[in-house]
Amino acid sequence: MTKKNKIKAIRGMKDVLPQDSSLWLSVEAICAEILSDYNYQQIKTPILENTQLFARSIGADTDIVSKEMYTFEDRNGDSVTMRPEGTASCVRAGIEHGLFYNQQQRLWYAGPMFRHERPQKGRFREFFQIGAECFGWPGADIEAELLSLTAQIFSRLGLKNTRLELNTLGDTACRADFRSALIEYLHDYKQDLDQDSLRRLDSNPLRILDSKNSEVQQVLMGAPDIHEFLSAESNEHFLRLKSYLQQLDITFSVNPRLVRGLDYYNDTVFEWVNEDYGAQSAVCAGGRYDSMVEQLGGPPTPCFGFAMGLERLIQMLQEQGAEIVQRSEPVQVFIVSIGEQARGQALRLQQLCCAEGIRVQLYCGSGSMKNQFKRADSSGAQFVLVIGEQEAATETVGIRSLQVREEQQIIAQNDVVNAVTNRLESL
Ligand code: ATP
Ligand code: MG
Repeated sequence: MTKKNKIKAIRGMKDVLPQDSSLWLSVEAICAEILSDYNYQQIKTPILENTQLFARSIGADTDIVSKEMYTFEDRNGDSVTMRPEGTASCVRAGIEHGLFYNQQQRLWYAGPMFRHERPQKGRFREFFQIGAECFGWPGADIEAELLSLTAQIFSRLGLKNTRLELNTLGDTACRADFRSALIEYLHDYKQDLDQDSLRRLDSNPLRILDSKNSEVQQVLMGAPDIHEFLSAESNEHFLRLKSYLQQLDITFSVNPRLVRGLDYYNDTVFEWVNEDYGAQSAVCAGGRYDSMVEQLGGPPTPCFGFAMGLERLIQMLQEQGAEIVQRSEPVQVFIVSIGEQARGQALRLQQLCCAEGIRVQLYCGSGSMKNQFKRADSSGAQFVLVIGEQEAATETVGIRSLQVREEQQIIAQNDVVNAVTNRLESL
């Protein structure tokens, strides 16, 4: 095949290769375990949804909806979209299955998300998120619980240099006052704003606060502060959250310009950030979105959630040399065999050992004893099991250590699982 004909992965989408996949598995397993410790239950939703779902929840004039969605017509001519995030689908599923009627829910999900962004370090077009959503609690306690859970994940993974940034957007009423004040301020600096910010100036000025353009950020230094517009309730709510976090020993800083890129948030928003990663500094982000369930046709339901980007998380762990990176488990037993009868018996021994949780690599394909032993030596296994023609005929097997010099011992095939278990236990 010529070079030109080679099919490559789509730009911005990447493979996780075996050298990295064990780390992925460990990270996913640790997250799942902690979510379960905090009593969250997993929900699985489809990758494809009706396009309307995202337009109506995320907001039609957000970057995601206006220019980043993978949207196409299916064979019936219906407009479908590959989910750009997980929250809208959780809400849709909850409404569809009646999960919000007189019930509270702690849910979590994991899976790929799709956004047609400009690919760069830490920013992809397909990326993997683990997220959680709590439905039915209006207070700061559930927010502190969820932040405690995310802190627990980072601490268990050994992630360093990650800080919590916190803000409040206030309730609908105070946000409206703040919005007018912000528009008034920004109109005086129109000449310093970029195209994106100008476009948002009258439609969605809060989102300008989220701009990653440094000149725009400069202008924002003197902008009005949302905290001066907070209602008594929003203020009280935020104070309570901060007090819980202090009790949990979770350090945070309040960033009055943190607004998040989606339309649906109110009151608390947060991001876990690592400054070494520039515009891709956020590893986990979320907030409160009390109006979404109603907006999508469900009963009024307060909600709070987060999503964590696994590519960024894993890259940070790798670059920090976190201990978990070394956690891939080597094979314990290698089986060498010569001849048809021996191969069948080798397969059977592998099956029996694996059923007991022993990690076994079988030599498959043709190969001389010498070649098979070479593989066994480089496999990193503790023991080698050897079935030659003579062992096959007598249903026995040779066993010896690959780590220390010792004579091979002949045992009955029936005793292999016991023998291997005992030897592994006495290491
Ligand atoms: P950013 O500000 O970095 O664009 P965001 O506000 O768009 O992030 P969310 O929609 O809140 O991010 O998603 C939560 C997390 O998912 C982010 O904190 C990040 O870790 C990850 N994430 C978001 N977009 C991408 C992407 N294109 N590629 C890789 N990870 C991403
Ligand atoms: Mg983004």
